[in-house]
Amino acid sequence: MTPTATAAVPVIAIHGGAGTLSRAHISPEQERAYHAALHAVLLAGQAVLAHGGSALDAVCAAVQALEDCPLFNAGHGAVFTADGTHELDAAVMDGATLAAGAVAGVARVRNPVLAARAVLQHGQHVLMVGEGAERLARGAGLAMVEPGYFSTDARRAQLQAAQASAAGAVLDHDGAAALAAGRGTPPLHEGRKMGTVGAVALDAQGRLAAATSTGGLTNKRPGRVGDSPLIGAGTYADGRTAAVSCTGHGESFIRVAAAHDVCARMAYGGLPLAAAADAVVHDALPAIGGSGGLIAVDRHGNVCLPFNTEGMYRGLVRAGQAPETFIYR
Ligand code: ASP
Repeated sequence: MTPTATAAVPVIAIHGGAGTLSRAHISPEQERAYHAALHAVLLAGQAVLAHGGSALDAVCAAVQALEDCPLFNAGHGAVFTADGTHELDAAVMDGATLAAGAVAGVARVRNPVLAARAVLQHGQHVLMVGEGAERLARGAGLAMVEPGYFSTDARRAQLQAAQASAAGAVLDHDGAAALAAGRGTPPLHEGRKMGTVGAVALDAQGRLAAATSTGGLTNKRPGRVGDSPLIGAGTYADGRTAAVSCTGHGESFIRVAAAHDVCARMAYGGLPLAAAADAVVHDALPAIGGSGGLIAVDRHGNVCLPFNTEGMYRGLVRAGQAPETFIYR
């Protein structure tokens, strides 16, 4: 699916969720911790690309590192369902071949993004859920954990706050803000954001890939699946156009097929990456009340990181350059 492979300057971009990130609600130390985490993840992804790794290798390495970091709502540090459990979703897509793998509702795979990749490599199916997905991951030799591995005190407090306020299912960072407001103190961390993580990359051989991983929404109904593991909604990569990873109110992203819509606007409408991504984030999503953002890279190495919320944890790094990380507009 990749057009004639030309030497490309490798680039990787990542996100750690979008949302209402008020400067008033984040301390300088918290801000530094987020920048440092994003910086380290970008260096890890850059190293994979520098050593000749594929775009798929790089996005999986970056998302695995984000899953292992408790600051983000994926893997260790994932949010709780209304039942006080964890149900994790992840997807990966290789734009060079349109091969894709995804898992939903898993609770025992340490790194759901690696389970998604195992589904891709297994090759028979694209989306696996629950126990069947876990069995495939175990068979692929992936590290398995007890569900309690994903829990942190901060996320438990967010669940309690969401349930006390009868707020329904809330985006990770919105939950943190509500918690802070209730206490009249600065939030534990970051105000409001959706804490899903994702990565998109272009490798030296011109291949594109995308990966996304999430714990979903705090206080979500057990069994709810968001956009992240749905190919075309929260995750998409096509070597002819772009690789895209989304974060936000998943139901809205599903309804507009957000990630694929970016690629479709480029393919059918001839739009450049930034115009296509802006149309989705600033027109299509707001039209149905959808909040969030996305990261995308095209086959020329253009990167855009649009969001319609106050902020989005994000960053990018090109080969041979220093990482750049951002939180606010
Ligand atoms: N999109 C994710 C979901 O709805 C949430 C997020 O981005 O934080 O599951």
